[in-house]
Amino acid sequence: MNKYKRIYNFSAGPAVLPVEVLETARDEMLNYNNSGMSVMEMSHRSKVYDEIIKGAEADLRQLLNIPQNYKVLFLQGGAHLQFSAVPINLLKNGVADYIVTGQWARKAYIEAQKYGKINKIASSEDKNFSYIPDCSNLDISKNADYVYICENNTIYGTKFWKLPNTKGKDLVSDMSSCFLSEPVDVTKYGLIFAGVQKNVGPAGVQIVIIREDLIREDLPSWTPEMLKYKIHADNNSLYNTPPCFGIYICSLVFKWLKNLGGLSVMKEINEKKARILYDFLDNSKLFKGTVEKSSRSVMNVPFVTGDEQSDAKFIKEATSAGLVQLKGHRTVGGMRASIYNAMPVEGVKALVEFMKDFEFNNK
Ligand SMILES: *Cc1c(COP(=O)(O)O)cnc(C)c1O
Repeated sequence: MNKYKRIYNFSAGPAVLPVEVLETARDEMLNYNNSGMSVMEMSHRSKVYDEIIKGAEADLRQLLNIPQNYKVLFLQGGAHLQFSAVPINLLKNGVADYIVTGQWARKAYIEAQKYGKINKIASSEDKNFSYIPDCSNLDISKNADYVYICENNTIYGTKFWKLPNTKGKDLVSDMSSCFLSEPVDVTKYGLIFAGVQKNVGPAGVQIVIIREDLIREDLPSWTPEMLKYKIHADNNSLYNTPPCFGIYICSLVFKWLKNLGGLSVMKEINEKKARILYDFLDNSKLFKGTVEKSSRSVMNVPFVTGDEQSDAKFIKEATSAGLVQLKGHRTVGGMRASIYNAMPVEGVKALVEFMKDFEFNNK
């Protein structure tokens, strides 16, 4: 039964959202909770909206078990703006250490160089970012203000399964493409940020979770107001007009996750989906994964046939079969299946069945 004629969307982002969430948004579209208006039309300072944003924060805190000494901020500007906001707000000594495991980490590393002495302390560039380097005993700078990682590398399909040993320095993590895919011990981080369009909501909302003592007032005088965590924290993310509707959709996704049983249940489902796909890849004679096994992401799964023409044929035929957005990033080539929280198990099974048929027909 597929009453909406939806297809399986393996996009890396913006990406698939839960049908139940879209249905609720539809039902509430013209008259949210007897307010007589759409969430899109209401003041961000109204009582009814205040309940939405407060509820979103409360649910997120519960899902991730966020300690009281961490602030939750709903911001804009995407992960890209955090590439600037993080160094601007967190550099005190003017030194930070970056681990470069992909394009997003590299972009963050390059951006941060505008603001301080930024060291690349580890990288997996040598093998086209197909693995996570050993980070158990890195040369952490003595006066580093923080150590930076991109925890799940959306493009390359790798994930830090063990956090780096930061030797006491605060860890900053770009969690955009694995946020809420599994339980996380927030206390291990100084700051977590995530653009929600991968796993949590529509593009336009950026979530920052930051330990309070990292929120500083003594920033350089040139710092744009909108980039100060302090301004947003003091105003509960309502310093200016927030991305109201996007936050509302996120709030529905948080409720969806809670109804599912929370992040440990979500993690089990995600692992099950990834296992179906990786098991197939490991046994296929035609398709193979591009990532070292111990570094494999459960969210983004790149794979290739080894032949560009076969890859193109596969993508074309898969699209006709209702399995879309499978083209890999141009720097990896081949295919990439993003199987975020909202991708149903049946979607992954359908993909694997299609791959089996393709392999059989292309021997
Ligand atoms: C998509 C993505 C980004 C970029 O997000 P924007 O919202 O386009 O700024 C950064 N980091 C990671 C890990 C991503 O997946």
